[in-house]
Amino acid sequence: MVAVTDLQDSLERDEFKVHYQPVVGVDTGRIFGMEALVRWEHPERGPISPSKFVPSAEETGLIVPIGKLVLSEACQQAKEWQERYFSVQPLVIGVNISAKQPQHPDLLGDVEEALREAKLDPKWLTLEITETSVVADEEYHIDTLRRVADLGVRFALDDFGTGYSALSYLRRLPVGLVKLDRSFVERPGEDTEDEVLVSGVIRIVSGLGLYELAEGVETPEQLAWVKSLGCDLAQGNYFSESLPSEAAGELLATYDYSC
Ligand code: C2E
Ligand code: MG
Ligand code: MG
Repeated sequence: MVAVTDLQDSLERDEFKVHYQPVVGVDTGRIFGMEALVRWEHPERGPISPSKFVPSAEETGLIVPIGKLVLSEACQQAKEWQERYFSVQPLVIGVNISAKQPQHPDLLGDVEEALREAKLDPKWLTLEITETSVVADEEYHIDTLRRVADLGVRFALDDFGTGYSALSYLRRLPVGLVKLDRSFVERPGEDTEDEVLVSGVIRIVSGLGLYELAEGVETPEQLAWVKSLGCDLAQGNYFSESLPSEAAGELLATYDYSC
């Protein structure tokens, strides 16, 4: 964990950077989108992972300005990439929303502002939430998220399979994409229970007309496995780690779509 004053100063010093990891179509091998992942580039300690500072940022409320910054940068970056590389099917940008953001009255305004300033069509923005995003005060949060969805923005349920009452959220929130947690993808074909669970989830998700994404794909075996189970999309180090924006742009320019 990190000290609060450190976090506050770092916002002022502009030390939060957005990195991007591609999301790939399992059948087509094409880049379908990018997920924005925040990094804290500490002047002495080097890059600090979000798992180390997001909890402190949530406690202090600093997650709201940090989240706003990520939203704004990610929308602008997505617009720039769409204009440069995607003339037919524009890419989707995924932005993680902390459990604390729907509790804050600014979420709707921040999303509106980020879209307006970037001139990005809301349908290309996907906000990634977890089940914990809505547990504290369910009705209020679901209502906030629905109002954000009314802008035309889509939602993804992140880390699916690690929380609880997940299936009920699929009915209550305007979710378009389910991201299956990487723990399910780790040992392809070795555990029949995993296989039953994953194929069952994929059947339910596609039966509801939603997209299914496998997180944390690292090997060709894992990719072949999720493909055989009918998964639509995949993300993971097999395709690319998360990259600073410039390197992610180079990846879009040079990506080999034959995989
Ligand atoms: P997440 O949204 O589930 O993001 C996926 C995480 O898995 C990322 O970690 C990514 O770097 C990592 N990953 C991707 N492919 C692989 C792989 O093949 N193998 C392994 N072992 N890991 C892989 P990261 O960037 O450290 O982010 C961790 C979590 O922090 C994210 O999980 C998300 O919940 C949160 N986070 C990241 N950026 C933001 C943000 O801007 N705002 C908020 N509120 N949370 C964020
Ligand atoms: Mg995510
Ligand atoms: Mg995840």
